[in-house]
Amino acid sequence: MRDVQTVAAWIAGANKVTVLTGAGISTDSGIPDFRGPNGLWTRNPGSQRLFTLRDYLDDPDIRREAWRIRREHAAWTARPNAAHYALVELENAGKLRAIITQNIDGLHQLAGNSEDIVIEVHGSLYEVECLSCHARTAMSDTLERVAAGEEDPACLRCGGILKAGTISFGQPLVPAVFDAARRAAAECDVFLAVGTSLSVQPVAGLVDVASRRGAKIVIVNAERTPYDGRADARIDGPIGDVLPRLVGEVTTDEPPAASAG
Ligand code: NAD
Repeated sequence: MRDVQTVAAWIAGANKVTVLTGAGISTDSGIPDFRGPNGLWTRNPGSQRLFTLRDYLDDPDIRREAWRIRREHAAWTARPNAAHYALVELENAGKLRAIITQNIDGLHQLAGNSEDIVIEVHGSLYEVECLSCHARTAMSDTLERVAAGEEDPACLRCGGILKAGTISFGQPLVPAVFDAARRAAAECDVFLAVGTSLSVQPVAGLVDVASRRGAKIVIVNAERTPYDGRADARIDGPIGDVLPRLVGEVTTDEPPAASAG
């Protein structure tokens, strides 16, 4: 398979790079993924019910457990890591068309990527949605109610069931958000999939969208993915090492600044 330098040369020669990120980019920040060796579901397959809309709607115990987990979520204290900062450098180098992220942790924005470049296809943990009237409110307000003793807080407007503003299994994506992601996949020269098992549709299918439009496909992930056969390059090294190296090779290609003397 191609090495880091080859991929860095593709990125250096590209005008538009679209990056698809998954939970694997945030494991170095202390947020476990789902399907990796230390993933939430690898360790506790039963926890998938917490992320399934039907179970969430039907079972108050699931909702109470989900709110307990949200209160303690690692995202509240996590800091971006070297891979997130590498993507900020890529944006500063003028190469980044978009970051399509399946993550809900807000770490790309916290690292410094522009809000309008980050497409959160699976929503955000920083918001709460009422599943009846669809009002959206700040997660911090609802977590205060949970801390004050409401184990399964209801919508203050209509009494409906509240859930994090994230996409659960069985819940459709927001069409406008997915359309923006599809455009970003279709309009790039290099499509870089980072830290994702590429097992959740329709997002994983964006690899095909980019590939059909002639983009180079690069997969950076420790484990195999169903899309490896479509990739022009696959790099399985740790993301926290690989991304800074990829971007470092691109940004050091630029001529050194003229000296003041
Ligand atoms: P996933 O758990 O299915 O796959 C993550 C992949 O990253 C695994 O194949 C794992 O081997 C790899 N990986 C983990 N750490 C790595 C590292 N340091 N270097 C190289 N590879 C590494 O994750 P997914 O494909 O994003 O799908 C899971 C869904 O779960 C997403 O839709 C997302 O919404 C949600 N999720 C989000 C977060 C978050 O926001 N940080 C965390 C867990 C799950």
